[in-house]
Parts: sequence; structure tokens; C-alpha cells
Amino acid sequence: MRVSDGKPIASYDFPGEFTVAGRSFSARFFVVTQHFFRSLGYRNDLFKKGCLIGTMNRQAYNACTRHQVKGDSVGLYSFHPDITNNEYGQVLRGQRDYLSFERRVILVPDRSAIVTLIHELAHDIYFGNGITRERREDFVKQIFRLYKAATMPITSEEKQAAPALIDFFKRIAANCQARHILLTISNSNEIMARLNPGFQVFASECFAYVAEKVMRPEESTLKIIPKEIEDIMPELKE
Ligand SMILES: [Zn+2]
Repeated sequence: MRVSDGKPIASYDFPGEFTVAGRSFSARFFVVTQHFFRSLGYRNDLFKKGCLIGTMNRQAYNACTRHQVKGDSVGLYSFHPDITNNEYGQVLRGQRDYLSFERRVILVPDRSAIVTLIHELAHDIYFGNGITRERREDFVKQIFRLYKAATMPITSEEKQAAPALIDFFKRIAANCQARHILLTISNSNEIMARLNPGFQVFASECFAYVAEKVMRPEESTLKIIPKEIEDIMPELKE
């Protein structure tokens, strides 16, 4: 696989076929090694064996992810091709500690930039036992607290922080497929009801987005991440 600096992910790879919505696709798969994981800047102890990256040509990738977005309400495209499997939702709802080995597959188009892999591996840290279930649940609650402060600020501190937080949340919604999720939760009134799978997907996107910026500070503006969000992130960096 070609990435932005031209280095391959691993010295070995293998072809694989899978089916999405009755249509078969093929990809080349690479094992994410500890060495590669660290080379992206992630902390060593967050590495969990078992993650595969599948690269596909752009046309096939687009066709495959289109099926996934349609077929799965959780809708984590770029992830496992088996869209009927609900394990992602279970992990997000805290009903399961982490994804099984065979579900930890990241699909990316050929010639993806390294920054895409940083983002997608952040998702794998979130889903693949890189952080505990308790930590994940706490993260979702903290993101929700900030989302509530941003959309319905009460205290003067909240009113002051709200514009930056709103900008940040809008960026998350635009960045991934979270736009419809944001609209859904915006229309809800019950606080605990908002901590639904939709919000948990949204929180995991916040996690991946912040990780992406923290790992590649020279390619982005770290200041676009509100301090309130940065403060609740685990230390990802080596
Ligand atoms: Zn994402």
C-alpha cells in the first residue's frame, strides 16, 4: 500500500474477498504491526494485536461504503465489511468490552493519506480494547456534558465556552457521517435518552478526530480543539 510518505504498512500482505449486500469485493489486507502503530506516534501500550487494514481501489471502496451507510444504522463505514453484524453497536452501548479479532478490519481506499490511517486507528483503539469500557463510557458522558453545555449553556462559563464547542461539534458532524446523528440528538429533550447509540457514535468520532489532530499537530491547527475536549482525552502519544 502506498501512503503519503511512500512507506508500505508491512512487508507482507494477502488478498481477501468479502461480500457486502450481496455484492462481492476484494481487497489486499495488511496486518497492523506494533512497529507501524508506533511509527504513527501512538503510545505503545495502546497497541492490541489483530487489526487489519484492507486497501481497495477507489471505485470499489466507494461502492462498498455506500452499501454500508445504507445498510447499518450504526454506519461505521471504513470498518468491517460485514454490515449485518451489530458488534460495533454493542461496543458503543457498553454491552461488550471490545470487538473480536475478526471484526477489527479497517477499509481504506488505495493511496490513503497517513492522516486517514491515524484517524481510523484511533477508532480501532476505541473499539479494540485499547481503552477500557469504563473509560469509553466516561468519555461519552463527558462529551455529552459538553454538548449540553454548548447547546443549552446555563452558567457564564458555559456561555463563554459554547461558541468554540459548537464549532467543534459542527466540524465533527461534517467530518464523518455524523451529521444526521447530530440533528437527531439536537431534537431530543431527555438527557439520558440522548446517550443513545447515535450519541455514542458521535462521541467516538470526537475521540478519533481529536486523536488525529494530536498525532499530526504540524498538519492541523490544534487550537481548533476546545480545551474542554482536549482535557478529557487520554494521553495517546508516546
Ligand atoms: Zn471516523
